[in-house]
Amino acid sequence: MDMQIKKVITPTPGRGVVIAGPCSAETEGQVMQCAKDLAKLNQVDLFRSGIWKPRTRPGSFEGVGKEGLSWLKRVKEETGLRTTTEVAKASHVYDCLKAGIDVLWLGARTTVNPFSVQEVADALSGADVPIMIKNPINPDLGLWIGAVERIYKAGITRIGLIHRGFSYHGETIYRNVPRWQMAIEMKRRFPDLQMVVDNSHICGNRHMLAEVAQEALNLNYDGVMTEVHPRPDEAWSDAAQQITPQVFGELLQNLRLRKPTVDEVEMEPLTELRRQIDEIDADLIGMIGRRMKLSDQIGEFKAERNIAVLQSDRWEEVITEASKKGSAHGLSEDFMNAYLRAIHQESIDHQDAIVNRG
Ligand code: PEP
Ligand code: MN
Repeated sequence: MDMQIKKVITPTPGRGVVIAGPCSAETEGQVMQCAKDLAKLNQVDLFRSGIWKPRTRPGSFEGVGKEGLSWLKRVKEETGLRTTTEVAKASHVYDCLKAGIDVLWLGARTTVNPFSVQEVADALSGADVPIMIKNPINPDLGLWIGAVERIYKAGITRIGLIHRGFSYHGETIYRNVPRWQMAIEMKRRFPDLQMVVDNSHICGNRHMLAEVAQEALNLNYDGVMTEVHPRPDEAWSDAAQQITPQVFGELLQNLRLRKPTVDEVEMEPLTELRRQIDEIDADLIGMIGRRMKLSDQIGEFKAERNIAVLQSDRWEEVITEASKKGSAHGLSEDFMNAYLRAIHQESIDHQDAIVNRG
C-alpha cells in the first residue's frame, strides 16, 4: 500500500520522542501531580495515561473511564503537556475526540483483533487525530500491518508505532519478549512511521528499563514510552514496572540518542566496513550454494541405493564439529544451532526433492 504518512510528534531537535505518564489514571490528584513533575523535566512530548484499562481478568482495576478525560484536559491546560490515552472501541474514540485528547493509541489487546481495529478505524473516519499502534500481543506481524492499514484507510495520516514486546510461553527475563527483529521488519516496511519503545511493558520491572530504552535507540527508534507514577509502589496497575518522575528524569539523562546519519566524511570508515560485509555475505551465499550442490550429489547417491535421506550419526558429527569451530570463532551456541538447523533443513529439502523424483 502506497502511504503518505506524517509524523505523530515533532521532538526537539537532537532529542528523541518522549511519552510518559502513569499506566492508569487513578485519581485527579495522582494524574495532576505526575503531570506537573513530568512537565518540570522539560523533556516530555506527550503525557500518557490509561482511562479504560484492558485487564486480562475481571476484578482488577479497569480504569476510571470517561471521568478521567477531564483530568487529562486539566493536564493540558495547567502544564501545557499534550495528552494521549488508549482507545479500544468506537465510544472511546468519540469521547476522546470530544475531550480534545491530542493523540490516541491502540493497545496490544486491540491490535490482535481486526473487528476491534476496524471499529476504531470507522469511528476515526473523518477525524484529524494522530494514532499510535502497539504491536499485537502475539508475534504476528500481519496483525500489526493490518492495523496500520485499517487506520490509514480511515483517512488518518499521522500514524506511529509502539513496540511493547510479545507474550512468551516459558521462562524469560522480560514480561514481554522484545523480538527486536519483528519491530525492525515493521520499520523496514513502514519507514515513515515513527516508532517508540514501550520499555515498561517489555520489562515488567524497573531495573531493565534503561537498558531496553537504550537498545531501542541504538536500533534507531524515534523514542520511548515509559510508565511513570508519583508513587509507583502504590499504583493500581502495573506497580512493579513504574518509576517516579525523578527516576525517569535520570533515565532520560543517561540515554544516548544515536545519529541516524552523519556527514559523508564521517561515514567513510563505516562505508568501507559495510563494503567488506557485503563482500563476505556474497561469498557466504556462494559457498552455501556450493554446499547444496554437494548435498545434491549425495542425494543422487542415496537415491540410487535407496538409502534414507536422514543419517542421524552423520548429522550428530556435523553439529559437534561445527559447534566447536563456531565457539573458537566467538559464535554463540544459540547462533550455531540456528545456523546449522537452517542449513540442514535446506540440505534435506534438496535431497528429498531428488529422492522423490527417483
Ligand atoms: C498500557 O500501555 O498501559 C497497556 C495496557 O499496554 P499494552 O496494550 O501494551 O499491554
Ligand atoms: Mn500498563
